[in-house]
Amino acid sequence: MTAPFSFDLKATDGKARTGVINTPRGEIRTPAFMPVGTAATVKAMMPESVRATGADILLGNTYHLMLRPTAERIDRLGGLHKFMNWERPILTDSGGFQVMSLAGLRKLTEKGVTFKSHIDGSKHELTPERSMEIQRLLGSDIVMCFDECPALPADRDRIAESMRLSMRWAERSREAFGDRPGHALFGIMQGGLEEDLREESAEALKKIGFEGYAVGGLAVGEGQEAMFDCLDYAPGFLPEDKPRYLMGVGKPDDIVGAVARGIDMMDCVLPSRSGRTGQAFTRKGVVNIKNARHADDPRQLDEHCACPACQNYSRAYLHHVFRSNEMISGMLLTWHNLQYFQDIMQGMRVAIAAGTFEAWQKNFHETRAQGDIEPL
Ligand SMILES: [Zn+2]
Repeated sequence: MTAPFSFDLKATDGKARTGVINTPRGEIRTPAFMPVGTAATVKAMMPESVRATGADILLGNTYHLMLRPTAERIDRLGGLHKFMNWERPILTDSGGFQVMSLAGLRKLTEKGVTFKSHIDGSKHELTPERSMEIQRLLGSDIVMCFDECPALPADRDRIAESMRLSMRWAERSREAFGDRPGHALFGIMQGGLEEDLREESAEALKKIGFEGYAVGGLAVGEGQEAMFDCLDYAPGFLPEDKPRYLMGVGKPDDIVGAVARGIDMMDCVLPSRSGRTGQAFTRKGVVNIKNARHADDPRQLDEHCACPACQNYSRAYLHHVFRSNEMISGMLLTWHNLQYFQDIMQGMRVAIAAGTFEAWQKNFHETRAQGDIEPL
């Protein structure tokens, strides 16, 4: 008998929550940050290194994997966990968002989306049914409903029409997902920045019933203030006893602000992508390691960080390998950034459980406001 998928909400502090998602592949401590493994790899990281940072779960991208190497091939090779050597939980997105942002020549109908691959121009179709099939072939633990996400700003009619299409697709996703013990299907709330549409969307999803609920359609260019305004009410429309996932967020202060508003899970390419472009997130804000002022600096990147980049190397070395285009540059800075993001999550989990989240947030913001320390 497969262990069920469940969520234990252990403590709340204000609107912030901490708990554990139980899956047959292990626990996911919340609030959780999910590193993004787009093409069956978190770029520049070995899976065991990702785990060493404290990540309990990874995100995989349906759009990328269906095009290359294809879901069918991954299935034949034993599924995504085995293929990429990550035995813990994996969440896959539905492909919908990336079709909209990456693919060429899209055609959207009630049935789904047809599009041309950004890799070789080949024609593909994604529907709720096909997205569920792909995510099943991948062996994903948390499957996302196929939805449409309009870019903001969009007018209210367009947002309403798109949200209602996504709700019809959510129903088809639920139907196509079937009965899969130990696996979860998450519904995705849409509705842009319109409170009544968010509520309508949440009601439609709750009627269908899901193992978790995502807040979709944010972090698409609306800015932090508008996003927080929406998060002031949107999570409250969702069931308290199910995980709430904010898709595609974000910067460290976005993450903290989202958790303060009742979000349990997030994902973002930012720590890994920034690591490859020489940008490091530290307790005292962002450090651009390519800047000349680091060339002679013997100090650690972040004195409170336990990652290999901070424990074993100087800023001067990190600056040198970045300037020299050495691969270890992206490896070390990605590791550091992922470690820092996981440290934030761990700090929040402990603080929420202890009822000291407000003080933790104050310290987080004050430390960042000090800015990066000047070289000696
Ligand atoms: Zn570090």
